[in-house]
Amino acid sequence: MTQAGRYDAIVVGVGGMGSAALYHLAKRGKRVLGIERFGIAHDLGSSHGVTRIIRMAYYEAPAYVPLLRRSYELWRELETSAAEQILHITGGIDAGLPDSRLFQGALQSCIEHDLEHEILTSDQLSQRFPGFRLPQDVQAIYQADAGFLMPERCIELHVAGALEHGAALHTEEQVRDIVETANGVRVTTDQGQYEADTAVICAGAWTGKLLPELAPNAVPERQVLIWTEPLKPEAYTPETFPVFLLMVEESHFYGFPAFQVPGFKIGRFHHLEEVVDPDTIDREPNARDEAMLRQAVERYFPDAAGPTLSMKACMFTNTPDEHFIIDRLKPDSAIVVAAGFTGHGFKFCSVVGEILSDMAIDGETGHDVGMFRVGRFS
Ligand SMILES: Cc1cc2nc3c(=O)[nH]c(=O)nc-3n(C[C@H](O)[C@H](O)[C@H](O)COP(=O)(O)OP(=O)(O)OC[C@H]3O[C@@H](n4cnc5c(N)ncnc54)[C@H](O)[C@@H]3O)c2cc1C
Repeated sequence: MTQAGRYDAIVVGVGGMGSAALYHLAKRGKRVLGIERFGIAHDLGSSHGVTRIIRMAYYEAPAYVPLLRRSYELWRELETSAAEQILHITGGIDAGLPDSRLFQGALQSCIEHDLEHEILTSDQLSQRFPGFRLPQDVQAIYQADAGFLMPERCIELHVAGALEHGAALHTEEQVRDIVETANGVRVTTDQGQYEADTAVICAGAWTGKLLPELAPNAVPERQVLIWTEPLKPEAYTPETFPVFLLMVEESHFYGFPAFQVPGFKIGRFHHLEEVVDPDTIDREPNARDEAMLRQAVERYFPDAAGPTLSMKACMFTNTPDEHFIIDRLKPDSAIVVAAGFTGHGFKFCSVVGEILSDMAIDGETGHDVGMFRVGRFS
């Protein structure tokens, strides 16, 4: 390609993170190309299934809270510019034994960052939100700011905004190779070659296929979501039932009120612990998936335990410490990578897009990304 056709940045993978990166780069006036192997907002990666939890109380590490504040701001800005709601506040529950990592971590982040919260016993939780039936020894932190995002619309709005700001977008085009050149990068796809100053790799579960050096630390894992028909629908609406995380003896679950797709929705973190190849993953949910998830519904949400309405497979991309990778591939490299968002990345897409555009354009970001360094595993 000619020098005139050269881009400032090429975003590889236009899913959750890539659509946000494309948007922020285009908004800052850069010549940017997004390349996506499937369509926009598809159901073959990690960013589908109608709802994704967003919350401020962050048991994973209080250090995420400043990024969350900015994420909320940017999602609200996107809503305003698109004149469409994509973030729904329902309140959120983090429930577990008082000494569990979930309860203690969520509490710690509330205290450290002065987040308004309430502590509820199991009985108080059921009185306030009758959809819950948790063991007596479980306690819950209620945080009013939590809710859910609509992931497919988030991606579509980021892409629409990027196009309005002049981004180029190629869909149904697969990137095969990314090499650094004397003055940037060359990206080879199944349809052509493109050059740019920087490549921003947001390939989700396929990261290890494009960047084999990251494969051991960005491991795809199969997940399954289930929607069940509530026996008492009035207990599982966005007005009466908050999003939740639940850490109980057998596992760690997350769930949502019914929204758009009929049914109460629940998933288990790390599902059946199946490491997969993203190109050959079994996308057809089966009886074993259903039995495991239904057991949790019947035990903890009995009023939601009507017939199964639907199930959907999806992928986490796990790092060894379950924190993200957001960094240059190597110091001074022209390749920036955002990967390993495990089971909690979607809510950060908006701020990660901003961070990636900072790194691609300015070489650094004002956000604290110290805990996301690629070199921490070596
Ligand atoms: C079941 C489930 C529930 C979750 N729940 C939550 C939640 O409640 N809250 C939360 O915050 N997070 C949640 N997460 C995590 C969150 O959804 C992910 O961290 C996030 O979606 C990851 O986004 P991504 O951009 O990395 O991946 P994706 O959105 O999958 O994007 C990667 C893109 O790269 C493209 N691509 C890959 N290789 C190539 C190539 N060679 N050429 C071109 N394009 C390529 C893919 O097609 C894809 O579109 C959940 C995840 C799952 C699976």
